[in-house]
Amino acid sequence: MNPRRTVSSADQPTDEALAERIREAGLRATQPRVEVLRVLHEGGHHTASEVVDTVDKRGVDVARMSVYNVLHNLTRVGVVTAVELGPDRTIYELDHGWHHHFICRRCQRILDVPCIVGAKPCLDAELEGAEIDEAAVTFRGLCPQCAAATKKTRSRRPPGS
Ligand SMILES: [Zn+2]
Ligand SMILES: [Zn+2]
Repeated sequence: MNPRRTVSSADQPTDEALAERIREAGLRATQPRVEVLRVLHEGGHHTASEVVDTVDKRGVDVARMSVYNVLHNLTRVGVVTAVELGPDRTIYELDHGWHHHFICRRCQRILDVPCIVGAKPCLDAELEGAEIDEAAVTFRGLCPQCAAATKKTRSRRPPGS
């Protein structure tokens, strides 16, 4: 066996570690699945298109359609979470528990927001007879960086203007 496997850090998973995670979820560890999972393993939120581009940049030959299929399959088995943030704006991330999202109106940065309740369905809705199992909240505004930049601009103006 590869001796480096035991010393691999969480940031740089080996092919075998990624394959293992896919197999644990009950899927065959095909190369496209391993490559897509590697992109998401680096953290953050990615659109399907961004995943295609990243895989492409690495010189790995995976067809666009199969990246989409892989994202769909990994989401179905719970390895990956898909979040709908608007029309044509579905983002994917490695599943790391139920949480919400904040989108910066200025720089479009997406930040994780911990679920205040800690579990679904998060919010009660007064819908007589309905069984609600999920409520996703999207927060919008200025991210810390953009908010700080706005304050600086404001304070440069002379008072009273
Ligand atoms: Zn921002
Ligand atoms: Zn997230």
